[in-house]
Amino acid sequence: MCVEFFPVVVTDIPDDGEHAPLLLDPAAARIVHAAEVADGDTVLASFPDYSGQTPHSDYFNDQYKARPKPYDPTCACGSCATMADESEPVVDLGDDNPWQVCDPWAASALVLIVPA
Ligand SMILES: [Zn+2]
Repeated sequence: MCVEFFPVVVTDIPDDGEHAPLLLDPAAARIVHAAEVADGDTVLASFPDYSGQTPHSDYFNDQYKARPKPYDPTCACGSCATMADESEPVVDLGDDNPWQVCDPWAASALVLIVPA
């Protein structure tokens, strides 16, 4: 079994009008690479790179379920093209929202998820 520990700080789930209430048990949350996100995993937060400092969790305003699919840099959705110049592989985590079906991430980016 391979266990990898990531040097990140996960802050408490935000509880304010800007963030939807969490419908899942936060104790089940895991940090994985974007490339490891599976269909149905609930995506909670990213870890923006703060130039060498330990990254902190950045919660999205609403959690969403990943629907991974092949990344297409020529996709016309408006999100995919912004990652076309990424130097490392890109994965498309997808999304279960009808208005946003693409969610491109650098494959090695850290994601806070609740596994499906
Ligand atoms: Zn797209």
